[in-house]
Amino acid sequence: MQYPAPIAKLINSFTKLPGIGAKTAARLAFYILEMPESDVLEFAQNLINAKRDLTHCSVCGNITDQDPCIICSDRGRDKSIILVVEDTRDVMSMERMQEFNGYYHVLGGVLSPMEGTGPDDLNVAPLIKRLADEAVKEVIIATNATSEGEATAVYLSRLIKPSGIKVTRLAHGLSVGSDIEYADEMTLFRAIEGRREI
Ligand SMILES: [Zn+2]
Repeated sequence: MQYPAPIAKLINSFTKLPGIGAKTAARLAFYILEMPESDVLEFAQNLINAKRDLTHCSVCGNITDQDPCIICSDRGRDKSIILVVEDTRDVMSMERMQEFNGYYHVLGGVLSPMEGTGPDDLNVAPLIKRLADEAVKEVIIATNATSEGEATAVYLSRLIKPSGIKVTRLAHGLSVGSDIEYADEMTLFRAIEGRREI
């Protein structure tokens, strides 16, 4: 027996999410059917609102509901340091630490030949433009400690160094293969304190 079309479509939508296989998608779809209608409407509206009201900051690439984002709009930060991360969740993790007072740049991913992600697919060109415009003295590359994250750090370092700007990389505390997003505040603090020049 096949599922009625509306539930088949709902299951299909869930399978488009990362880490959701056919079985989990079906479980979620049936769970939604049992939810009160008001909760389902709110859920649907939240999806639409998030997609409609959020955009990428035209300066740093962070996901934001105002452009420039709240961090780029904050003139009280240290203009001489830009911390480069893979995505917006890493910015949130760094901000929770409350130790970093420079600005951010969000790449929107990492270089990955396997997945066909090259420099043009990332928010790299706007970073280079920022470095020319602004009074930046140091770029801290805080990509994850994965092979793609390391390769991206090396690529950026080679790109930025000729401009004379110091390029550093998070060092101690982060274990190989670990994600910035899941690191605790103390680990991040140590990683940023122990950064090394690359
Ligand atoms: Zn921004």
